[in-house]
Amino acid sequence: MESLVIWTIVLALVAGGVACYTRNFRRQRQHDRERLVQTRELGMDKASGQYPLVDAAACIGCATCVAACPEGDVLGIVSGKAVVINGARCIGHGKCAEACPVGALKVGLGDITKRDDIPLLDDYNQTNVPGVWIAGELSGFALINNAVDQGRLVMERIAATAGPRGDREDPELYDAVVVGAGPAGMSAGLVASEQGLKCVILDQQGAGGTILQYPRRKLVMVQPVEIPCLGRLPRLEYSKEELLEIWEKLYTDYELDIRNGVRVTGVSGRQGDLAVVTSDGVLRTRHVVLALGRRGTPRRLNVPGEDLAKVAYKLIDAEAYAGRRVLVVGGGDSAVEAAMGLAHQPGCRVTISYRKPSLLRIKQRNADRIAPLIADGTIDFRGGTTVGSIDGDRVVLDGESGSAIVPNDDVFILAGGIPPFGFLREIGVSFGGDQKAIATAGTRGAAG
Ligand SMILES: Cc1cc2nc3c(=O)[nH]c(=O)nc-3n(C[C@H](O)[C@H](O)[C@H](O)COP(=O)(O)OP(=O)(O)OC[C@H]3O[C@@H](n4cnc5c(N)ncnc54)[C@H](O)[C@@H]3O)c2cc1C
Repeated sequence: MESLVIWTIVLALVAGGVACYTRNFRRQRQHDRERLVQTRELGMDKASGQYPLVDAAACIGCATCVAACPEGDVLGIVSGKAVVINGARCIGHGKCAEACPVGALKVGLGDITKRDDIPLLDDYNQTNVPGVWIAGELSGFALINNAVDQGRLVMERIAATAGPRGDREDPELYDAVVVGAGPAGMSAGLVASEQGLKCVILDQQGAGGTILQYPRRKLVMVQPVEIPCLGRLPRLEYSKEELLEIWEKLYTDYELDIRNGVRVTGVSGRQGDLAVVTSDGVLRTRHVVLALGRRGTPRRLNVPGEDLAKVAYKLIDAEAYAGRRVLVVGGGDSAVEAAMGLAHQPGCRVTISYRKPSLLRIKQRNADRIAPLIADGTIDFRGGTTVGSIDGDRVVLDGESGSAIVPNDDVFILAGGIPPFGFLREIGVSFGGDQKAIATAGTRGAAG
């Protein structure tokens, strides 16, 4: 009798557990279906670089890949198969592919003939314009290790084809001008130094690239990578500051010629003697390495007062804004994350101005975190508004129901960036989507 009772309890617990699991599973699948519809409407299912390529025939729909993704909502399960729900969020960790028990998934660029944002490159990352090379995230592959590897690949190739030094005596002519001092540009510069090439690195902001823009003390995950002149980094996690210190020591020790605050606006000329047009004049070079990343130039609002010192396009140190009245402009993850970071500072009053009525283009975990802060008034969300003007102690927000004056000390415009693809096209660089046209015209330009 006693054992019957025990068995009944055990069976009831198991049945309860299964029911609970099934209910959660169904709820999650319903959520995935709804997110897919939503992201398709917003165009966010499309990747902005590499993304998970699912072999639907091999996928068993176990959702291991969904759980493995550090970004949270890139993948989901719809109709029993893994699908890309939020391709724009993939930054290429590759954890989904590692976790898939049946090898049904890899991370890549997919069919680039459909991509107008992936430059056509040969096996060494040279574009269809001879002497113009691409390294790092601009190629479509994110992450620091990929950027470092590509910077090295490109500069080693340039060194291998550079010819004897005696042939390169023109004092005005660089062997390579590297545009962008992020991990890709820095890696290329270090190889140039190792190989004795005459090289300069230009950056419109500062040495460090996107790492420089990370929030203070951000923990950076670095997949195994060999850094030129240094070797393999001993750890897989560094703070932003530690990583920047490593780069700084390298470029000081190896005397890299890095010029910060110099923006490159064009490349012209002929093979072997290219002209790099910069905000600081024109440089002549045999090769140009474009290591621009994909973040582009921060989008401006072009409103009166935008040039005031209180306006910034990135938030690095939220703690400095305790007790301030801050306006965050934008409705993407960067804007929302900045607003939440600021709202946690003592006495900081945060307003968000977003041109859309609600926050739809954000990660689910950000949506879940910001909703209560808006509901309880910690963050003053002004959907459906645009900034009319910015003044010393206030901003004007325009909306359908008129204009509102909001007292203000600081403004963060976090409305995305203008991608560098137009710039590349002006130089003559072809993209994946141009492949058919190139084939028809008989021009050279093979995908790597
Ligand atoms: C918030 C955030 C967190 C991240 N976390 C990680 C992480 O933990 N681990 C990881 O591996 N990766 C991470 N990444 C991705 C990683 O930062 C990038 O993949 C990497 O920095 C790309 O390196 P890059 O050298 O190709 O380009 P970038 O680092 O983007 O550098 C490009 C440089 O080019 C300059 N530039 C652009 N246009 C011009 C121009 N016209 N003239 C002159 N200079 C120009 C820019 O100012 C910039 O300094 C993260 C990215 C973000 C945004």
